[in-house]
Amino acid sequence: MAAVIPRTGAETTPEWMARAACAGMDPELFHPDRGESSDEAKAVCAGCPVQLRCRWFALSHLEKFGVWGGLSERQRRQVRRSPSRMDTVRILAGLEEARERGAVG
Ligand code: SF4
Repeated sequence: MAAVIPRTGAETTPEWMARAACAGMDPELFHPDRGESSDEAKAVCAGCPVQLRCRWFALSHLEKFGVWGGLSERQRRQVRRSPSRMDTVRILAGLEEARERGAVG
């Protein structure tokens, strides 16, 4: 989430953020107020080439606010409660990265 994503305590900005579909977009879109729809943000995420890494980043950094990797705050809480779902997201993020490097087909 390039311009949008780095609202975390992360010490460094992951290189994949440079390719985020949300780069340069209004961060407010990804931080809807309570009761507002997050559908527009999720639609951007759906076409993002780094969606899975973004999702894992937010989950592994316990990001509490906003839409990351197509998941809302509530959805991330649900995923975090399930070790198997966390493992799945982590593995898929790794595959996304490997695919980008051309390591897998
Ligand atoms: S998945 Fe969504 S929030 Fe994350 S980098 Fe892509 S567009 Fe931004």
